[in-house]
Amino acid sequence: MESLKGQIFNKLFLSDSTPTYDEIADNLGIKRTQVVKEAVDGFRNNPDNRNVLGDIKRLKGLFNNKRKIYKNEFKFRSFEEFYRWYKNTYNDLGGACKYCGTPEGDIKKLVVDLSKSKRAVTRGRHLEIERRNSSSDNNEYSPDNCTLCCYICNNAKSDIFQNEQDFITIGAAIGEKVKGMLLKNV
Ligand SMILES: [Zn+2]
Repeated sequence: MESLKGQIFNKLFLSDSTPTYDEIADNLGIKRTQVVKEAVDGFRNNPDNRNVLGDIKRLKGLFNNKRKIYKNEFKFRSFEEFYRWYKNTYNDLGGACKYCGTPEGDIKKLVVDLSKSKRAVTRGRHLEIERRNSSSDNNEYSPDNCTLCCYICNNAKSDIFQNEQDFITIGAAIGEKVKGMLLKNV
């Protein structure tokens, strides 16, 4: 059983709807003041949580966007499921791209910080959600069919390499190249 603090956190930040403090209090059978205290002092004003809340905001945007675009192919049932999947997958991968193995921070360094491109760089800061298999008979966005990879690999894999297997050697080659490029820039 999750702690009361954890339950309040889930309702405040991970639910698909945006419940009011009253609704959360009712739902958990506690006083509204307790919810407010946790929400304000425990989370929002706690500098340790700044990254967590920033991450949640970014991932909620990603979740809503994918759900809107992919409709029935999008199989994550709730934001909470998606958020937990993302966090677990990220941790399992050690924060590195599934295909080339480059850590997220190194990709950002290469694509964003060292980029000479004048165009606004909107991608490359974070690992992206990617369908392992994107052939037409099995191309859903589901926890089983998704992984996280870097902007470079996601772009290269595109819709052409429809299977994870097809991309393994290419991903490894990208990883080697990226490593070399970063070494030149230390
Ligand atoms: Zn990669």
